[in-house]
Amino acid sequence: MSTSDALHFDLHSHSTLSDGTLSPETLVRDACAQGVDVLALTDHDVTEGLAEAAVTAAEVGLCLVPGVEISVTWSGVTFHIVGLNIDPEHTGLQAGLAKLRAIRTGRGEEIAQGLEKHGIEGALVGAQAFAAGPILSRTHFARFLVEAGYAKDMRKVFKKFLVHNRPGYVPGEWTTLEEAVGWIRDAGGQAVIAHPARYRISATRLRQFIETFKGCGGVGIEVVSGSHSASDVASMAQYAKRYELLASCGSDYHGPEQSWQKLGRPMPLPKGCVPIWKEWAMDCKKST
Ligand code: AMP
Ligand code: MN
Ligand code: MN
Ligand code: MN
Repeated sequence: MSTSDALHFDLHSHSTLSDGTLSPETLVRDACAQGVDVLALTDHDVTEGLAEAAVTAAEVGLCLVPGVEISVTWSGVTFHIVGLNIDPEHTGLQAGLAKLRAIRTGRGEEIAQGLEKHGIEGALVGAQAFAAGPILSRTHFARFLVEAGYAKDMRKVFKKFLVHNRPGYVPGEWTTLEEAVGWIRDAGGQAVIAHPARYRISATRLRQFIETFKGCGGVGIEVVSGSHSASDVASMAQYAKRYELLASCGSDYHGPEQSWQKLGRPMPLPKGCVPIWKEWAMDCKKST
């Protein structure tokens, strides 16, 4: 493919290796069916789905961008940093991700203890039953709680449990922003701030975060995200311009159950944004 102008990009998605509900293979097939030309698989703190995704991508002629979404604690707040075009074999990156997965395991036990204090038994085993991959996420606890009848759906369960001031809330002490961006850069990738409009922080703090991120060598920001409104997109486009960050777009797809996040349907980037793929060499052909 010689020009990226007409291509459809979805640069943020999850599979069963983290907290998505589709296998990497099915995710790639569905993305292709939705008209996605370039898909990034960005599982939370794990890259093990990329090999399977790459095999299917070659088969169907979709361009797969190897990615990851890294959990970060900055100033007491959890942020997510997406790494695009990483080398998943990089040992420094893998050592860092292994540390995060261990933190997740310990946090999972604390979440289950917190829920038990509120009379909810068996949450750890219940959540683990929903985790097909090597990470344990709040999403897996949420699915257990819905299945066990403690809440009606995924939106409601996150209002009642697992969030600040609610049963089962354990903040998690992740890695630093400096480390996360460093691992991505060392692995040859581009670091991108995930869903920047979703963090509950003031504009001043967000500006400080972006400045620190840039200082660490971060280069991109998700202007378009499945969890951004049209006005979020407009305001994040302003941040991208002001801080000379490359603009990314991704659905943050977790599977067909989350009807508000549609695979391969991110809004177009607003005019004036410099797309993160501007200098990517893309050659996605079907293998025979
Ligand atoms: P964790 O990284 O284990 O703290 O889990 C965070 C994940 O929970 C996110 O990546 C989302 O997939 C999911 N999540 C957080 N808040 C919500 C929500 N309100 N509704 C649905 N999923 C959510
Ligand atoms: Mn998730
Ligand atoms: Mn995220
Ligand atoms: Mn995500």
